[in-house]
Amino acid sequence: MANNKDNRHGHGGMDSCSFCGRSAADVGMLFSGMNGATICDECVERGYEVLQEQTSAKMKKKGAQGAAAITKADLVKPAEIKAFLDRYVIGQDAAKKTLSVAVYNHYKRLLAADKRNSQKAKNNPNPEAAAIDDVEIEKSNIIMVGETGTGKTLLARTIARLLKVPFTIVDATVLTEAGYVGEDVESILSRLLQAADYNVEAAERGIVFIDEVDKIARKSDNPSITRDVSGEGVQQALLKILEGTVVNVPPQGGRKHPEQKFVQVNTSNILFICGGAFDGIEKKISQRLNTRVMGYNQGAARHLDRNNVMQYITPQDLRSFGIIPELVGRMPVLTYLQPLDKPILRQILTEPKNSIIKQYVKLFEIDGVKVEFAPEVLDFIVDKAVEFRLGARGLRSICEAIVTDAMFDLPSSGEKEFTVTLEYARPRVEKLHK
Ligand code: ADP
Repeated sequence: MANNKDNRHGHGGMDSCSFCGRSAADVGMLFSGMNGATICDECVERGYEVLQEQTSAKMKKKGAQGAAAITKADLVKPAEIKAFLDRYVIGQDAAKKTLSVAVYNHYKRLLAADKRNSQKAKNNPNPEAAAIDDVEIEKSNIIMVGETGTGKTLLARTIARLLKVPFTIVDATVLTEAGYVGEDVESILSRLLQAADYNVEAAERGIVFIDEVDKIARKSDNPSITRDVSGEGVQQALLKILEGTVVNVPPQGGRKHPEQKFVQVNTSNILFICGGAFDGIEKKISQRLNTRVMGYNQGAARHLDRNNVMQYITPQDLRSFGIIPELVGRMPVLTYLQPLDKPILRQILTEPKNSIIKQYVKLFEIDGVKVEFAPEVLDFIVDKAVEFRLGARGLRSICEAIVTDAMFDLPSSGEKEFTVTLEYARPRVEKLHK
């Protein structure tokens, strides 16, 4: 759509609005579209108003519905949650356990809150029962630390499949302090609201995965040297919504619609799961462990697994990485993901319910072609993924390079079987180097 002033002097229908019929001379601006259609500024505004009204009507309706209450039957036990995760995510047991417990507790907290509310409504005459029900379970936000491509987002997504509460994934790198180019921290809640289909009560019990939180770390260890706009300001803003507060949220997000009505969202019961690669944090962990070794705790030091120090991560390491102490304090559940070694990458290729190889087999099957990957090809793919330093993310691009020719040729060749051998795969992957 172009703002085309020339249309005011155009020919035929081009000089009047196709919607209200007024001529170019009577309106402020006329926009032109396909096939000579035009629309004037006032009709654009009117259309936008109608959309706004629809959104707020939808929100009112949803608000009146309330959120579906959590019942005991909805409580999926941590072991069951983990078993579900195991179907899609290989390894990462520590993170899976932590997440399973956290989600389970999130549901229990909602259950308790619902019970408290309904008891309040009934004005429970039994003071003893009321006292127990007055125990408010505080939420425990989670932080997952692990190299990129180790499955943090996959874990979050897989959890989401299981959930009966709204869920959204946001990226911390786009967040900025209010007033700077980028998105306000409140936009996180706009997303959640959208995921909840504008049902505010449902959004207020949702789960948000904030990816790449390490990117908002303070760049300098010393907060007083310079004000770090990108990092600390965003962390402060994030802190507020993580600890639980009432936030004015623009339902459609962003600053593009300054006139939209704000909606109040209480974040006290929203569970935040943060994830980040925290590149180089292992060094900080090692440094801390070394200082301890120098000190009194030499007995414990002997049992340290130096090749995998991530398992010793503590909140203190997040602070030395540049996350402000208050924010670290608001993410009391800290878990880590292991770097993926060759055997795990090999498993990832074939074992998950929708593993990459299973997906290719399916794709060929639709063409009536039975495809097989020789075992040495799978090892080769893993070796290359490690060589290219792409982790699990690289597996797919390497597979693509191998099968693209076949995907092009086989649908028309009429062949019914196709075996991917090492001789076939090798030259196609080598091309990626160039
Ligand atoms: P991260 O969020 O840690 O950077 P992702 O979860 O986006 O990484 O992982 C990238 C891709 O790698 C995923 O789509 C998935 O196919 C694969 N992957 C990574 N880790 C695992 C794992 N532990 N099990 C199965 N697949 C994995």
